[in-house]
Amino acid sequence: MNAPAKSKLIKGESGEWEVVIGLEVHAQVTSNAKLFSGASTAFGGEPNSHVSLVDAAMPGMLPVINRYCVEQAVKTGLGLKAAINNKSVFDRKNYFYPDLPQGYQISQYKSPVVGEGKVTVDLADGETIEVGIERLHLEQDAGKSIHDLHPTNSLVDLNRSGVALMEIVSKPDLRSADEARAFLTKLRTILRYLGTCDGDMEKGSLRADVNVSVRKPGAALGTRCEIKNVNSIRFVGQAIEFESRRQIDIIEDGGKIDQETRLFDSNKGETRSMRNKEEAHDYRYFSDPDLLPLEFDEAFVARLKADLPELPDEKKARFVKSYGLSPYDAGVLIGERGTADFFEEVAKGRDAKAAANFVINEFFGRLNKEGKDISASPVSAKQLASIVDLIGDGTISGKIAKDLFEIVWNEGGDPRAIVEKRGMKQMTDTGAIEKAVDGVIAKNPDKVAEVKAKPNLLGWFVGQVLKETGGKANPAAVNELLKKKLGI
Ligand code: ADP
Ligand code: MG
Repeated sequence: MNAPAKSKLIKGESGEWEVVIGLEVHAQVTSNAKLFSGASTAFGGEPNSHVSLVDAAMPGMLPVINRYCVEQAVKTGLGLKAAINNKSVFDRKNYFYPDLPQGYQISQYKSPVVGEGKVTVDLADGETIEVGIERLHLEQDAGKSIHDLHPTNSLVDLNRSGVALMEIVSKPDLRSADEARAFLTKLRTILRYLGTCDGDMEKGSLRADVNVSVRKPGAALGTRCEIKNVNSIRFVGQAIEFESRRQIDIIEDGGKIDQETRLFDSNKGETRSMRNKEEAHDYRYFSDPDLLPLEFDEAFVARLKADLPELPDEKKARFVKSYGLSPYDAGVLIGERGTADFFEEVAKGRDAKAAANFVINEFFGRLNKEGKDISASPVSAKQLASIVDLIGDGTISGKIAKDLFEIVWNEGGDPRAIVEKRGMKQMTDTGAIEKAVDGVIAKNPDKVAEVKAKPNLLGWFVGQVLKETGGKANPAAVNELLKKKLGI
């Protein structure tokens, strides 16, 4: 599908290599209760305070499927434009671990609830790729072993035990660390729009197993290594960069890649072997006799489909079409549902491009600088809209608008009233502007002599006049006037 672009290939001693990546993403389902019990899924509770008898695997307990979690999985499948399987099966994946009291994880193996789908991903260089989704299945999370709270014992916290996860498996369609990062970012955006996973990687709500192999362009797929449980988008990129280079070096030194499970050490920026294929688990999957196959009818799916929110791709297309924004700007604005809504509130009934410019450059810039989420913004959409209006009707210049934004950000208040009170209005008195222009010209005869040969100097003159006028002169008027007076 994705023909390897030259720039994505990696140089080795023997020529160029192509990296092939597939992700298995574990996304915690947004739900108050667990997948098969009524216990709470709240984050950060006292250890073992959100554990039902089912989660603790007490003898004789029976799992009961949480309908809401199934709805969430189906919604996600629809958001991934995937086939929904009206009948699927829960299996037991058997393994022993202290934080898994059942001795098996209930998962879906051969018959997942969601089949093949696709995700459209826009890359930074403007290219768009399509990444295949292999499947999505529901499964339980395990508990957590804690090794650093007691000198000689390990402790177990079962709060996470039984929490619903969606495992979303991509096809091996990704060809670089950049593509993998962009895919995961897009997937997270879709999940957040749907409200089916909060995408909070710091809390472990979203984590990825990263499968990496290398091959000569056009050759058959190489042997892959799977890097387990990577918990940030940045680390996914670093792990791929390290791992692909490691594999290329081994093959070029005459060795071969062992299929193995590795972990990413974020302190060292490297991957390390965890277990190889010989030690690999045999999970002895079989369908869980405590649970009937999961079945629902078309009407159930249709109802969920009818309730889907506008998804990122559709929103982006609408922003381009109805607001006349560039695809790039539209892509930035739709990154979060909250930012898209905020923009639309600012743009309502105004010059949408001007609104987009201010929101992206000033407002997002400021949020990023402070590491703030839009929900914590001290400036409201209404205040921002008022600033855009003040620029639009010529009351203030773009430069003053930045100062005004800064004031509103720090002190709050009605932008129009602030402009009045602090005398920030754009100078409309052409006489005063002319005076400032004349002053600057008179003070800089050397620059005046140069400007004809170096037209770039005009910008310097404009800057000086704006400085003289405290930024209140209209830059276009200053520009005009300077050109006339300097004879250029
Ligand atoms: P398993 O279930 O044994 O882990 P799968 O075949 O389901 O294996 O693949 C798991 C993940 O590995 C998928 O995301 C898939 O895209 C990816 N993958 C499969 N083969 C390769 C390969 N040769 N190189 C990179 N990724 C691969
Ligand atoms: Mg796997």
